[in-house]
Amino acid sequence: MELRVSYNRYLMAKALTSSLLGMDQGELSAIISEAGEPAYRAKQIMDAVYRQRVETLEEVSTLPQQFRERLAQSGVTVGAARIEKKFVSVDGTVRYLIGFADGQSVETVWMPEGDGGEAGDGSEAGEEAESSGIGTSGAKAQFRETGLNAGLEGLPRPDQHHPDQEHPTQNRNRQNQGRPGGSTICISSQVGCAVDCQFCLTALLGVKRNLTAGEIVGQVCAVLKDQVVSPPEDRINLVFMGMGEPFLNYENFIKASRLLVEGVGIAERRMTVSTAGIVPRIHDFGREAIRPKLAISLNAPNDTLRTRLMPLNKKWNLEMLMTAAREFPLRTREWITFEYVLLGGVNDRAENAKEVAELLRGLRCKVNLIALNPGPGIDFTTPGAEQVGVFQQILRDAGIPAFVRRPRGRDIYAACGQLKRTVEVATSPELQIQSISPATGG
Ligand code: SAH
Repeated sequence: MELRVSYNRYLMAKALTSSLLGMDQGELSAIISEAGEPAYRAKQIMDAVYRQRVETLEEVSTLPQQFRERLAQSGVTVGAARIEKKFVSVDGTVRYLIGFADGQSVETVWMPEGDGGEAGDGSEAGEEAESSGIGTSGAKAQFRETGLNAGLEGLPRPDQHHPDQEHPTQNRNRQNQGRPGGSTICISSQVGCAVDCQFCLTALLGVKRNLTAGEIVGQVCAVLKDQVVSPPEDRINLVFMGMGEPFLNYENFIKASRLLVEGVGIAERRMTVSTAGIVPRIHDFGREAIRPKLAISLNAPNDTLRTRLMPLNKKWNLEMLMTAAREFPLRTREWITFEYVLLGGVNDRAENAKEVAELLRGLRCKVNLIALNPGPGIDFTTPGAEQVGVFQQILRDAGIPAFVRRPRGRDIYAACGQLKRTVEVATSPELQIQSISPATGG
């Protein structure tokens, strides 16, 4: 009893300077009971914060005015994330710059038609993506898509104009109903990243700090609100593939996943976390009761090449990584996804594809191929569509489902590995983008 009281005091003290976003039912219950309010208020706050996505305490109309004032007086805020900038791509992708109380910011990406990454993963979302023909219905269709999208020739021309560009959030309400697989939000887990992948722009930032669970969930709430969509009515997929390494911010990432399921209402099977290969955390992750699906950034088929591209391979080499993958407790109809960034002349040769097939033999998995998304300071080239197709075919011939991720929002630096809080896309000489007008959201 004594312990419980002091725990409650501790939580109350914490609440003095903290935000409701990021708190779970248990934490809210503790605050409520300390305040002498009825227990059902915790559920009311959960609903207001995660379902209605309120931004201020005044908006929580289910709470008595007096209680709202008391909360405000003791320093409690909603702690909603703020959209600082918004860039809209010609392909409909939106890159958000989202700011937090201490002035730090991260990027979050909205892909109205998904990114094809969910295809073929054995999940419900994957099946929908396949049946809707999103680049997954057999090798032939996939190859056609590769031809369209792989390589720089897939970049939208600067003179192409997206009809939604001036009014990006209008007409989006329920827009993803037309696409059975739903839309995808790509969220960040850290400000910057400590994993020094040689082909990734985020790596150039280094890591500034971990995001709190509230800041991770806050990105989702801000984007859902801006896009006027709401799960589960709207089909929303989530990928933890933005800035940062989720498994180096493990506790907050796991807590955020639970809040996204229990609070926001996004199903576990619609979420995927990608790790560069933090092996001990892969083992931990397999033991979680509530967890997204697992994706592993493989990117190279042997230790020599992988260590060159991803220095963390020195610490957790391919043998350790593949052991963790083989031991990973998959659920019924769940597959592991391996991501493989194709770098021209470096890891995209036929012999590399054969090595990958050998490495993954017998694993319940699929491979997502990503042709390098270029960026300033990145010393690799994007392979051509033909090379990507050959690589994919070798994997498929070996019985491994392989898909090509369509690059989304390359023109606004929103694609995989391009998240660097770039605000100067309109003048970027590398891509000569004239068609992008950064629109301030919020
Ligand atoms: N840190 C996590 C998640 C973020 S990166 C991880 O490494 O998995 C998400 C994916 O983008 C990873 O598979 C990564 O290998 C890939 N990626 C990074 N830079 C890229 C680039 N320039 N072009 C294409 N994909 C890239």
